Amino acid sequence: MARRKKIYEGKAKILYEGPEPGTLVQYFKDDATAFNAEKKDVIDGKGVLNNRLSEFFMTGLNNIGVPNHFLKRLNMREQLIRSCEIVPLEVIVRNFAAGSMAKRLGMEEGSQLPRPVIEFSYKDDSLGDPLVPEEYIMAFGWASQQDMDDIVAMALRVNDFLAGVMFGVGIKLIDFKIEFGRVWEGDFMRLIVADEISPDSCRLWDIETGRKLDKDVFRQDLGSLSDAYSEVARRLGVLPGNVTTTNTKPTLVN
Ligand code: UDP
Repeated sequence: MARRKKIYEGKAKILYEGPEPGTLVQYFKDDATAFNAEKKDVIDGKGVLNNRLSEFFMTGLNNIGVPNHFLKRLNMREQLIRSCEIVPLEVIVRNFAAGSMAKRLGMEEGSQLPRPVIEFSYKDDSLGDPLVPEEYIMAFGWASQQDMDDIVAMALRVNDFLAGVMFGVGIKLIDFKIEFGRVWEGDFMRLIVADEISPDSCRLWDIETGRKLDKDVFRQDLGSLSDAYSEVARRLGVLPGNVTTTNTKPTLVN
């Protein structure tokens, strides 16, 4: 097989050159990291689950008219995406206090916010993705006022979509992070949702029991991460029963 050109390798994904100009292949690894990669592990099957889950959410968003990078799933771990120029921001939408917000404001985890709250971090691992006000974003030219209006409008649509889909399967969407990219169509620039949408970048709690079904299971050593992600996939009907996510070894047939 011809070797593919690797464009970028991050903590959980690798991007390869795509088959046509303007496309990339996004490969989902099994690596899990937390606390800016201070905690690391390999979780068998995580990449397969996130590939499927991100496909499911991005396809749903495409269907309701929220533009995003997803083109098609290629295999268990890879999907074809539109290549875009990533806006260097992590866009976080919160419905309930948790994580850094709960800590910063001394709020109890899980308290409902008066309305969805959006915040922005500057994407730079060496700085620990610092929280930044919109004033910085515009002053440093990371995004314009028009871009920010589009980003906020799309982030709220993604929130309504995800919260609704999750509610339908008994899961509360506490918060999530998304990223945006720029694509050019002729002389026009358009923003699209990019990166991934998966339990790696959301907080998902079971509505009845409060059980965590997201990366906090790994961050806080709450049990098996692949069990939690499989539960989300199973409830959403994303994982048909015959798909095995873990690497199985050949077995002898008698
Ligand atoms: N998040 C993420 N990547 C990051 C930081 C946060 O995907 O680099 C997600 C995180 O999983 C959660 C939401 O964004 O769903 C809000 O995270 P928070 O700011 O509370 O930070 P954390 O407590 O995860 O450090």
